[in-house]
Amino acid sequence: MTKFTDLDLDPKVLKAIGEAGYESPTPIQAAAIPHALAGRDVLGIAQTGTGKTASFTLPMITKLAKGRARARMPRSLVLCPTRELAAQVAENFEVYAKHCKLTMALLIGGVSFKEQDKLIDRGVDVLIATPGRLLDHFERGKLMLTGVQIMVVDEADRMLDMGFIPDIERIFKLTPFTRQTLFFSATMAPEITRITQEFLQNPERVEVARQATTGENITQKVCIFKASHRSKEGKEKRALLRDILIQEGETLDNGIIFCNRKSEVDIVMKSLKKHGFDAGAIHGDLDQSTRTKTLDAFRGGTLKILVASDVAARGLDVPAVSHVINFDVPIHSEDYVHRIGRTGRAGRDGKAITLVLPFEQKYLTSIEELVEKQIDRMDPPGGTKAAEPEAKDEKSEKPKRERAPRKEREPKADKPAKDAPSDSSEKKEPSNKGNQRGGNRGSGNKTVGMGDHVPAFMMRSFEIKRATTRSTKKDDEAAETEQDETDAAEPSGTASDETAA
Ligand code: AMP
Repeated sequence: MTKFTDLDLDPKVLKAIGEAGYESPTPIQAAAIPHALAGRDVLGIAQTGTGKTASFTLPMITKLAKGRARARMPRSLVLCPTRELAAQVAENFEVYAKHCKLTMALLIGGVSFKEQDKLIDRGVDVLIATPGRLLDHFERGKLMLTGVQIMVVDEADRMLDMGFIPDIERIFKLTPFTRQTLFFSATMAPEITRITQEFLQNPERVEVARQATTGENITQKVCIFKASHRSKEGKEKRALLRDILIQEGETLDNGIIFCNRKSEVDIVMKSLKKHGFDAGAIHGDLDQSTRTKTLDAFRGGTLKILVASDVAARGLDVPAVSHVINFDVPIHSEDYVHRIGRTGRAGRDGKAITLVLPFEQKYLTSIEELVEKQIDRMDPPGGTKAAEPEAKDEKSEKPKRERAPRKEREPKADKPAKDAPSDSSEKKEPSNKGNQRGGNRGSGNKTVGMGDHVPAFMMRSFEIKRATTRSTKKDDEAAETEQDETDAAEPSGTASDETAA
């Protein structure tokens, strides 16, 4: 087995690792560190929980230990999709570089530019940033990226989901061609492969097994549940959640409850609190200090239940989470892997329970295809009869829209969708003929099924604009808004649709 001392790391780094209590490198560290130290580009296929942060920070610190930073010209750059993830990487740097004299700056939204400017002006060895905020600084002329020797892209697949790929490409082009690139992604979508082919030079590919297929210490259950009536779904689902929390009893030390939408996060959190549970919420609409406070309380053990959205909770490292509950089935099956990966960390036991409404069965099917197994079923604890898993519910094929069309879909009748793909019905039909995706609307002008009275809102047209470039002003929250809105508006399950704005 590889030991840390076999890996040519700076003795000061080794000292810090020893103090952190690490005994031996994880597989991704053992595989990636030697190549990173040798100056090679690395394509790491791994997700959080595998020790991937140290697999790029340790060699970076070792390499940067020699040399000094110049004003406004960072020597290295780490790009993360969310503020929390960036802050977490910064915390890791602080731990591992505590015996080295390296300077670091964290550039994330929700924090004033002034402080960040000051740090950059002094010169930083390591710059950790979300793409939007980094480009904001660049555009304000406060930052030059021509001194970047090492660039890390962390969680590239999430960057793709959030529509950050154009920003990443732009940032790559602002850094020198001679830089070393360390690129991490949990999955390799075609778009990610394209980026790596364009910007990485003969990378060394290191891969660790997907957590969901190896995490035998996580007990996974699905609870298939049918409400007594569609209109009571939310209420009954929240009651079911409480029954589950009560049933788990003492075994539930702390848990994260994932919802697909930010609005749902708030509702679930408030409902739990009302019923006497110790719950807090985290999602992208909350201000940074609230997010940080809630997260610190959860990490510190003073908050028992964290209700979260995917983007906000992505990659968060809370070492001891006993339970993950999916209040909604994740629409993208990879998110299931990420969500349940919050529990069962560092070899501990964990439990993941997913609530499944009939219309969500199709998402469950794709999750089971991804993890290559059938997840055990459990009966709803409150005596509610479980829906037959095999029962093919008509509604499961065609979930009804429950919410009004999103704001972005307000009429822009005469303007065709500029960035829509060529096969987009929205592009083909930009005039006010109604929403072609709407379930009960016919083709052409006629709206069927409404008799003579057709409500005015159903006659309005709209366009869906595909985001190819992103406003850099509001990076992670903006993306999360899109994700939530798209989810709410009937997700089609493709990453590119998710970024449609
Ligand atoms: P990451 O995948 O980078 O989010 O790391 C997950 C967790 O593993 C973090 O809490 C790290 O502190 C911890 N960790 C990373 N490397 C090691 C190691 N070699 N030994 C023990 N724990 C580690």
